[in-house]
Amino acid sequence: MNIIDRFKKYVSIESTAGEEKADTCSDNKMLVLADLLLEELQALKPDEISINQFGVVDAKFLGDSTKPMIALLAHMDTSPSASDKDVKTRIVDYKGGDIKLNDTLSLKVSEFPSLKHSVSHQLMVTDGTTLLGGDDKAGIAIIMDSLIAILDGKKKHRSLEIIFTTDEEIGADAEHVSMDLVKAKYGYTVDGGDSKYLSIESFTAYSMKVLVQGKSIHPGSAKNKLVNASNVLIHFQNALPEFLRPEDTEAKEPFFHLCNINGNEDKAVGDFIIRSFDDDQIQQMIELAKLTARRINDSLGNEALTLEIKPSYRNMKLVLDKHPEITNEIEGIYKSLNMAYEYEAVRGGTTGSQLSFMGLPCPNLGTGDYNCHGRMEYVDLDEMKQMAEVVKKLMEA
Ligand SMILES: [Zn+2]
Repeated sequence: MNIIDRFKKYVSIESTAGEEKADTCSDNKMLVLADLLLEELQALKPDEISINQFGVVDAKFLGDSTKPMIALLAHMDTSPSASDKDVKTRIVDYKGGDIKLNDTLSLKVSEFPSLKHSVSHQLMVTDGTTLLGGDDKAGIAIIMDSLIAILDGKKKHRSLEIIFTTDEEIGADAEHVSMDLVKAKYGYTVDGGDSKYLSIESFTAYSMKVLVQGKSIHPGSAKNKLVNASNVLIHFQNALPEFLRPEDTEAKEPFFHLCNINGNEDKAVGDFIIRSFDDDQIQQMIELAKLTARRINDSLGNEALTLEIKPSYRNMKLVLDKHPEITNEIEGIYKSLNMAYEYEAVRGGTTGSQLSFMGLPCPNLGTGDYNCHGRMEYVDLDEMKQMAEVVKKLMEA
């Protein structure tokens, strides 16, 4: 089976992530794909294979020990932002210009200039009613295609650990991995984006819940008595630096982001996220948020505002900087294949942002998947094939 048919086979299985569950994956639908992958890996006669309660599949193929054992990871679930039921794929020999997906929806170059890099490539698109699921079934197809080519071709390979995870889209995949089973020294997630990007940096992330207890009084007799919880929350948001919001920042700039707000006069809750590439900077932002809350409380004369601040994940660069051998290796492979590459700082988190701190340093490789999480998603199939060459090289002894 070629890589394109393999990709189509994975895409045909619905696997949208749902609500996080404590003892299994968020939606049993993704277990159908997990079982298929378990079966496909089993047929390749691994030295060890398992599936855990969350549907995470881990297969080990022992090989030459002159190079350290590596893990290759991709996730099975797709984003809940759009449906992946009955995905109808179409292959386009792309000559440039806009691509009509259906009567009302087109992929426009003016909106998605990344299309310009794909002229004369084959692209896979949908009929514009679902997402494609290239995030991250392109990653799974790349890993499986490479593994089969290496094993069937009886090529000498290093020891390999293949890990297919669940619930990446709800941020739970790293914690679903049974780390006691992981034997690889380091790994690569193969998850999304332009194939030239090597992602070695991610945000350091905190969540901040702002709880406000107001004093609700009938508005008719509220003078000097009412403390409107919603207004206190709005005051807090406006007191944070106005230009440190996602819509005003880019590249390595940090932000505070208000994601959700809920409230009345008596109670209000705001869910914020705080992001920065720098650990010291994010601590200063946290201090600033605390100081802002304290000043507002002082002005009100009571503890109306309370903050619950929790760490989510950290910049994986802190770990990867200690392992230059990992970036040297992948750089060498890109060079040997005459492929352009660029280091990328991801304005988000990757599975590697968590795994790197759980003992598995883990940069991310692209797949050729673009516009993920929506109906405009497409995969540059030429890039996908090229990434299979990169992964094959990584697997070789
Ligand atoms: Zn992904």
